[in-house]
Amino acid sequence: ASDLLRQTLGSSQKKKKIAVMTSGGDSPGMNAAVRAVVRTGIHFGCDVFAVYEGYEGLLRGGKYLKKMAWEDVRGWLSEGGTLIGTARSMEFKKREGRRQAAGNLIAQGIDALIVCGGDGSLTGADLFRHEWPTLVEELVAEGRFTEDEVAPFKNLSIVGLVGSIDNDMSGTDSTIGAYSALERICEMVDYIDATAKSHSRAFVVEVMGRHCGWLALMAGIATGADYIFIPERAVPHGKWQDELKEVCQRHRDKGRRNNTIIVAEGALDDQLNPVTANDVKDALVDLGLDTKVTILGHVQRGGTAVAHDRWLATLQGVDAVKAVLEFTPETPSPLIGILENKIIRMPLVESVKLTKSVATAIESKDFDKAISLRDTEFIELYENFLSTTVKDDGSEFLPKSDRLNIGVVHVGAPSAALNAATRAATLYCLSHGHKPYAIMNGFSGLIQTGEVKELSWIDVENWHNLGGSEIGTNRSVASEDLGTIAYYFQKNKLDGLIILGGFEGFRSLKQLRDGRTQHPIFNIPMCLIPATVSNNVPGTEYSLGVDTCLNALVNYTDDIKQSASATRRRVFVCEVQGGHSGYIASFTGLITGAVSVYTPEKKIDLASIREDITLLKENFRHDKGENRNGKLLVRNEQASSVYSTQLLADIISEASKGKFGVRTAIPGHVQQGGVPSSKDRVTASRFAVKCIKFIEQWNKKNEASPNTDAKVLRFKFDTHGEKVPTVEHEDDSAAVICVNGSHVSFKPIANLWENETNVELRKGHEVHWAEYNKIGDILSGRLKLRAEV
Ligand code: ATP
Repeated sequence: ASDLLRQTLGSSQKKKKIAVMTSGGDSPGMNAAVRAVVRTGIHFGCDVFAVYEGYEGLLRGGKYLKKMAWEDVRGWLSEGGTLIGTARSMEFKKREGRRQAAGNLIAQGIDALIVCGGDGSLTGADLFRHEWPTLVEELVAEGRFTEDEVAPFKNLSIVGLVGSIDNDMSGTDSTIGAYSALERICEMVDYIDATAKSHSRAFVVEVMGRHCGWLALMAGIATGADYIFIPERAVPHGKWQDELKEVCQRHRDKGRRNNTIIVAEGALDDQLNPVTANDVKDALVDLGLDTKVTILGHVQRGGTAVAHDRWLATLQGVDAVKAVLEFTPETPSPLIGILENKIIRMPLVESVKLTKSVATAIESKDFDKAISLRDTEFIELYENFLSTTVKDDGSEFLPKSDRLNIGVVHVGAPSAALNAATRAATLYCLSHGHKPYAIMNGFSGLIQTGEVKELSWIDVENWHNLGGSEIGTNRSVASEDLGTIAYYFQKNKLDGLIILGGFEGFRSLKQLRDGRTQHPIFNIPMCLIPATVSNNVPGTEYSLGVDTCLNALVNYTDDIKQSASATRRRVFVCEVQGGHSGYIASFTGLITGAVSVYTPEKKIDLASIREDITLLKENFRHDKGENRNGKLLVRNEQASSVYSTQLLADIISEASKGKFGVRTAIPGHVQQGGVPSSKDRVTASRFAVKCIKFIEQWNKKNEASPNTDAKVLRFKFDTHGEKVPTVEHEDDSAAVICVNGSHVSFKPIANLWENETNVELRKGHEVHWAEYNKIGDILSGRLKLRAEV
């Protein structure tokens, strides 16, 4: 606790009292945020109060401000909605209401408020902070408090967390609840697809998003929709029907049996007339399509939070408490956000202002401005959607010399989203005039059969939600026979290669790059999209398939914990995959509230097992049967060659002396397969397009375009007619697409292999998730119990 605590409390030693509330529309993950705030606050020596029923509760005070104990938030990670309630309060919009609320906070000694809500709630919170000193003066003037009583509460600290399914806040990649809503939408559209295909129907699906098209756009990408309507990109009045019909007809002509159109509830035409699902239906009926409308409504808000929202809310809740403790009267109110993989703080007022300016731009018909105010990822994905769906044959736009043959190969164990990435790469290639080729059944498939298949639009059309690998994958690496691989690369005249895979894919990329001296055909741009549930590819913090795997694990552990509610006093030792990388185990521990996580990075020994037993006994000692959630220990499959999952369970069971039961739980291959999560589908599409652009850039024969600092690999042809590179930076042209903190970049394999790879253990040197183990230990109570026993 304590450096931060000592710093914050300084000499005054006033116990910090923090209130946390949820406000506005509910969203999945809000409970995880409240849990994280309560437990982190207690860990740092603060009192934490939950405000029930949003600002309404703040106004009412009394029992609506409840001091929370550690146990009060047990099991909240797996609960949907918000357990402390939310409300819309007209009274809080009035100054008298806010004065009343300030009085209720001071009465409890609280001068810090963490608000999880949408832009309205956060605007209210910041206003409250600015008015606070004068509200306090008025409370003294009214006689509710004396000067001495209010003296310690001169300022109010406000920290915002964005809880919103719309993902409409500027400056952050995702808001708490958005990916859960997207997941619900994709599940529903997947269900609809089956019946639509059976009857050869078109479906128009309306999703939420009054001013923000994020859900509609992402759902469009993730479900392979034909067309989307979003508020930021108004369609031409009276004319939009033509393009819609043209696109749907074109897709039908290519052999598609169904059409999916996603309409955001706030979709507009450029005269600001709403474009409703029924308007879209009318246009499709006019085209002669049997068309149905489905309005998803509140299903989108429902259910439990997906893994992404559980860790996002947890990490942001932890950071919100830290922000409160670091607050000074001069600090602008911070809003906790995320960029790629990095939790960030941004000024609340500016973010809210920017968010509101999107709605203003739409109202004034400035749609270019509206879309430009969205973050770069939104714009990039919108353009990708157009490139992979609305336009789909670019061959006539591209000079023949710039058309490329691009190969895709899958290497290693299957993970979700291999097909989604291949689909996006194929569609983007086709829309840009390139030819996509699938190398069938991995490198050994190529070596043995030479099978390389040119992919067409209809081949990949329904791959967006298929788990596994439609082009086949294989664990063998390229070095098995580089000569034969070179022969087939030459035969198919490949100008670029995308490898999708884990460590074997990484190794193969290195081998192909090393093979350039012997086989000049490998002097083509090549890139790896890390795709493995183990997330063990060096140099990056993110692999495709991880999100699907974590979702499978939270669903699995929610279920087994549920089974514990019948028997009570049950401990599960859950074994997860990950090879020699403890990433999945650590993250599963963090988002399921596991008591202990065993990873290869932190070996299991007798001392740690003994500590676990003590902690578990302590945990169950005061339990009178009200602990309905069971206890979870997560063990990575390679955490120890001696202490197997069963042995651990047996040792703990033996030591429990019948006080609690212990079971093993091994989800196995469920973690690799199944339907890819919506986040994996969208990321797959985004990374695949980035890789094609990477290949295009390296193949450009002229100078690098002014908008990019990418070095251009220029080729010349040697006496044998072989392509050879003419610049010394050719190493940069064999690279891995990596996420590091808030950055996405292509890192050269040669450098990664040399400096960041532990070849023996098949992973990177850096344990980029180490901090999450510490946070997991705080929130699960392990550190607290360790201090107590
Ligand atoms: P959602 O995105 O789900 O709509 P939101 O937080 O934007 O969430 P709102 O209904 O706009 O939802 O706001 C929730 C509550 O926040 C309001 O009922 C009100 O009590 C308070 N609030 C909103 N705007 C203000 C404001 N300008 N001044 C004071 N309080 C406000």
